[in-house]
Amino acid sequence: MQQTLRQLEAAFVNMWERGFGFPRFKKKMTSFVYPSVKNALVSNGWVDLPKIGNVRMRMSRAIPEGFTLKQIRVLKRANGYFAQLTYQLAVNIPDAPVHGHPLGIDIGLDYYLATSDGELVKRPRFFNQLHGKLKSLQRRLKNKKKGSLNWRKCQMKIARIHQKIHDTRKDWQYKLAHHLCDQAGMIFVEDINFKAWAKGLFAKHTLDAGFGQFFGILAYVCRKRDVYFLKVDKDYTSQICPNCHTQTGKKSLSNRVHFCPECGYTTNRDVAASQVIRNRGKVAVGQPVNQNACQEVLSGSITDWLDKTP
Ligand SMILES: [Zn+2]
Repeated sequence: MQQTLRQLEAAFVNMWERGFGFPRFKKKMTSFVYPSVKNALVSNGWVDLPKIGNVRMRMSRAIPEGFTLKQIRVLKRANGYFAQLTYQLAVNIPDAPVHGHPLGIDIGLDYYLATSDGELVKRPRFFNQLHGKLKSLQRRLKNKKKGSLNWRKCQMKIARIHQKIHDTRKDWQYKLAHHLCDQAGMIFVEDINFKAWAKGLFAKHTLDAGFGQFFGILAYVCRKRDVYFLKVDKDYTSQICPNCHTQTGKKSLSNRVHFCPECGYTTNRDVAASQVIRNRGKVAVGQPVNQNACQEVLSGSITDWLDKTP
């Protein structure tokens, strides 16, 4: 009950101070927090939830040594109940310094993303499969009487597939973020307002790809991996030649190749954009942009990273 009041308070404060909307009524609570807990509540395979009691728990990993348990959040999802344990350790983690190989990343609709080293990452295929399943279940739902047991069972199946899509995407994004960190000391991305983007032309595709979430994950993984992460200005990335910096004019969406009439530099359109982003990043951190550096890198390094993952 305390938690609910605290959330309501936060919702009102957000409205007054941060311009959020009027708090909306929520029928169901999907999670709650134990804000101050002791280490002793968690033992191997068990969690002792105050007022609820000892509950069996499958641990996703071992509890790190020397950390203090700060809070437990219990959540209900379509595929079960989860306990999120938040641990704290009193250390200062320095920000990653500017160092190492710079990598620019351009996200797109044709490919999931392109790197300035010429790698093109395809959109994952497993979504299509799951989306097909989802569609068929949604069709079946229509033939069922609303509120009936069969209708509810079908609804549960749909919810589980949504959860599966969400979890699979997140897992894939983590792996991709680590894959990018494997090859770079600095990563530069476009500074995109995803909310505005999702409303416009790219609405369906963008939401499906979850770029906003991916950038959040990438920033987090970079921090953990000691890779410098920076967002740079996104404007006109597709209209500038990464090799000689001349404006090449607008490309139509169907034009997949960058060709510079000034210096003759030719490459994939998304790779060119990511190289512009890398150059901007290098300028932002005060490194010189070597004009001909990108040419040699491009030979034959275009790979389908995704095919190595399920
Ligand atoms: Zn050029």
